Amino acid sequence: MARVMNFGAGPGTLPLAALERAQEDLLDFDGTGMGICEHSHRGKAYSALHAEIKALLTSLLGLDESWEVLLLQGGASAQFAQIPMNFLGPEARADYVLTGTWGEHALAEARRMVGGRARVAGTSGTGPGAVAHLGAGYTRVVRPEEVTVDPGASYVHCTSNETVHGVQFGHVPGRWFDAGAVPVVCDVSSDFLAAPTDLSPFSLVYAGAQKNLGPSGLVVVLVRKDFLARAVTHLPNIFSYAVQAKNDSLYNTPATLSVYLARNVLSWVGDLGGLPAMEARNHGKATTLYAAIDRAAEFYRAPVEKTSRSVMNAVFRLPTEALENAFVAAAEKEGMFGLKGHRSVGGIRVSMYNAVEPAWISALAAFMDDFARKAG
Ligand code: PMP
Repeated sequence: MARVMNFGAGPGTLPLAALERAQEDLLDFDGTGMGICEHSHRGKAYSALHAEIKALLTSLLGLDESWEVLLLQGGASAQFAQIPMNFLGPEARADYVLTGTWGEHALAEARRMVGGRARVAGTSGTGPGAVAHLGAGYTRVVRPEEVTVDPGASYVHCTSNETVHGVQFGHVPGRWFDAGAVPVVCDVSSDFLAAPTDLSPFSLVYAGAQKNLGPSGLVVVLVRKDFLARAVTHLPNIFSYAVQAKNDSLYNTPATLSVYLARNVLSWVGDLGGLPAMEARNHGKATTLYAAIDRAAEFYRAPVEKTSRSVMNAVFRLPTEALENAFVAAAEKEGMFGLKGHRSVGGIRVSMYNAVEPAWISALAAFMDDFARKAG
């Protein structure tokens, strides 16, 4: 078996230990004589797994009784729709803080439902406007003074790490902007579980699994019970957080294989020392990678302001697109994959999710030094 170094932005690489554990369980889960995907979601074996993954999330994140942990489907994009569906009644308004493309998508989806009642509370985009011009010039997070939250809004939505632009808020969410008493909703898809995070400023966070948590097909939603109590009730059951909460996320068949693999990933995180260990690991990788960029700053141009640089996704350009293509091709020859930037912005993107090995980043940094020397 020859596994490559996978720097893909999502689905991303998964910890080898989590995959190896799955090999046997795919055929015979815990000695039950059936593979994990073949078990009923109402049966004893899956029920124990379902409880275990919720317990792992609760303990890794230090969640107390005020939180509801939901295991849903449809990816983070379904949440772009489900949040306004659940929290915007006929007159209600919502605010959106934009620091990249994914926040724009969330806003666009809300606007499809409520039009101008979904408003931009602040943006760090320099382009002519959100949504119509996807990915317009985001090179930093917003500064607190650039955000004005409508005190009457039902929630304010933000994105902790913008995967396409490589723009990340720091891990002290209380300092991002002043939301007053308005509930803060955050898309944490691409930096979930990357470091210990104070969840106290949030009323709801959600993460598509396919970066730091497992395969796609699962989205974790953490919602405070007091916020959930404000949700509208006239919804199709399948889209109602309250219905899913009441049914322990088993209103319908969950993505059992994705839940299973995420369990393996979470226990790997625990084995390595939990979120403080992830933070140290990720900080080390990001330091190595950004140092390689900065050593050849004339050749590798990193557009993101240093204080907004993402620990998860580093983006940079080379002098020409032809050189970028040559970079990607030469890297693949060295066993390094997934380095092409998002199709909307081009360039190079290095995703350094939890499961990316520090040794891969060191190898990539050495490759970058070499490439710049030869081509620059
Ligand atoms: N939000 C963020 C921050 C993302 O990175 C992505 C996917 N790259 C999404 C939302 C959309 O996720 P999905 O494809 O699971 O709907």
